[in-house]
Amino acid sequence: MFETLSQRIRAAVDKLRGRGRITEADLKATLREIRMSLLEADVNFEVAKGFVQSVQEKTLGAQVLESLTPAEQILSVVYEELVKMLGGEAKQPVLKSEGNLWFMVGLQGSGKTTTSGKLALFYKSKGRRPLLVAADTQRPAARDQLRILGERIGVPVLEVADGERPETTRTRIQQHLTFDYRDLVIVDTAGRLQIDEALMGELAKLKGVLGPSETLLVVDAMTGQEALNVSKAFEERIGVSGLILTKLDGDARGGAALSARHVTGKPIYFAGVSEKIEGGLEPFYPDRLAQRILGMGDLQTLLEKAKAAELEAPDKALKDITLEDLITQMRQLRKMGSFTDILGMIPGMSRMLPAGFQVDERQVNRMEAIVLSMTPKERRDPKILNASRRKRIAAGSGTTVQEVNRLIKTFEDTKGMMRTMQKQQGRGRGLFRR
Ligand code: GDP
Repeated sequence: MFETLSQRIRAAVDKLRGRGRITEADLKATLREIRMSLLEADVNFEVAKGFVQSVQEKTLGAQVLESLTPAEQILSVVYEELVKMLGGEAKQPVLKSEGNLWFMVGLQGSGKTTTSGKLALFYKSKGRRPLLVAADTQRPAARDQLRILGERIGVPVLEVADGERPETTRTRIQQHLTFDYRDLVIVDTAGRLQIDEALMGELAKLKGVLGPSETLLVVDAMTGQEALNVSKAFEERIGVSGLILTKLDGDARGGAALSARHVTGKPIYFAGVSEKIEGGLEPFYPDRLAQRILGMGDLQTLLEKAKAAELEAPDKALKDITLEDLITQMRQLRKMGSFTDILGMIPGMSRMLPAGFQVDERQVNRMEAIVLSMTPKERRDPKILNASRRKRIAAGSGTTVQEVNRLIKTFEDTKGMMRTMQKQQGRGRGLFRR
């Protein structure tokens, strides 16, 4: 998802690169392209229009930062607006010490049952004691599906009988809570293929009786704009406190996912990123998604620069990259998740990596320890690292001289490789952009 959009927005901004000055007409042309890419990605029309308008206003009104090129300045405004469109700060559902009852609603096939299981596992692994309630009496196999899922992840499942009255369900849940202390009840409810008045009535009634602390709407991001109509209908009829977008790993254009927050006004709490229960659900971070869409490598450097807003040698020539830069980059990346996750965020990369590929994080930690044991001078100029210095570094970092040698060799090789890549690409892009 988002790959075409990502490529197009980046191409639009790239056209401005290398220019010292841009006119208002240049800006408008770029914004037109961004608007087209958003619409082609199936972003809601009003959302796309509003987005481009704010970018334009902000860019024209912006103070010119000497440390940023015009292309970089536009990119940073686009980034800010994208984060805003996706909801700004990441939000999580309210979780009290007890008495949490989450009501899961959504169309049939949206991923409600799967997501209920994923949520149970997610919070179980954080030390919570979830109880799953299989109240989907519409889809014949849904209760079986949830029961099997519960057995697999070690979470009890309470099954609602056909025609059971909501009051009975409430009593049964309470009994369960009393006998087997549970602090988070997740109720998987019935869905239909389309919005259906009778179903909405039933759901509204069940919700009224159970009195959930959160009502989470599960939305299939693959269904495009239709997903937004569905969301509005659920909000009007049942009331929704937050969204969970599923199937973000699919190859749909992604516009619905991008517009959902804005159109519904509800926070997106989680994203479903795989069919698997284990690891198939991630908290939704607007800033990370925006970074992924705009190309993370570019942005890391850029945001750092925008923040510092200092002149200090803004763009480093590749040959000047030091081990210190390497550590800074690694730390910034680390803040965004594990290296394996990060590789997966790079558009197209997930398909290139073998299934189950894992970066050895311990290895990364050791590399970091080695670099940290060097003096600043050594980090800037590894050439001075003679045998005795290498020995000292190995001792300081709890590694071996062989490992220190390997790191320095890898670093030099990478520099060489990047230099070649950059020559091939003309003006290079990526982590170490010139
Ligand atoms: P329900 O009818 O809403 O309960 O839907 P299900 O939970 O049965 O899910 C419908 C289908 O979508 C199943 O095949 C799930 O495996 C699949 N699914 C759910 N969430 C995701 C997701 O985040 N990614 C992918 N690829 N598939 C998902």
